[in-house]
Amino acid sequence: MAPSPLPGRLTVITGPSGVGKGTLVARLQQRHPALWLSVSATTRAPRAGEIDGQHYVFLSRPEFERRVAEGRFLEWAAFAGHLYGTPRGPVEAHLAQGQPVLLEIELEGARQVRQTFPSAFQLLIKPPSFAELERRIRGRGTDAEEAIRRRLDRARVELEAEAEFDAVLVNADLEAAVVELERLVGLGPSPAGS
Ligand code: 5GP
Repeated sequence: MAPSPLPGRLTVITGPSGVGKGTLVARLQQRHPALWLSVSATTRAPRAGEIDGQHYVFLSRPEFERRVAEGRFLEWAAFAGHLYGTPRGPVEAHLAQGQPVLLEIELEGARQVRQTFPSAFQLLIKPPSFAELERRIRGRGTDAEEAIRRRLDRARVELEAEAEFDAVLVNADLEAAVVELERLVGLGPSPAGS
């Protein structure tokens, strides 16, 4: 497929569950409010504190599948027993307006975006070690053992795909990682230096 003619820059952030992508991205967005973060759709149940339409759009599986059939996702994938997808319309609209757009998605989705948006910048976030990742996932205390096992299995696969990415960021120290992330996605330090 031809490279996208859309003027905004698309960045894809991938990394194992529990690596701290969400926190990093939230910090980046605080510092750069113009950065638009896509809100994904999912069939998994909301976790405590998650708000429909803000953290995810929570859909039933039939509704998700209907939207897949209608071509309404830029990419979608199954992850740990649930479906996740990026709604196409809002991403295209923000890119067309020249806004930087961020997708925080797992490996299969990142691979699909690589086909449709070859010019997208693809970043893998890694934990300092696998043991530390496991500790973080378990420490979150939100998932049952079976879900934890599935997430750890996927984590191994995602980390092995490192060579596919344009850049790799190790999330050992949050402050240092935010600064590095800012540099990698081409935003630089915010004027306020906050
Ligand atoms: P969680 O259930 O922990 O919120 O997310 C599980 C995984 O799904 C994470 O790796 C997250 O990056 C990924 N994910 C979230 N939204 C999307 C999406 O729209 N598409 C894809 N392919 N993965 C997603």
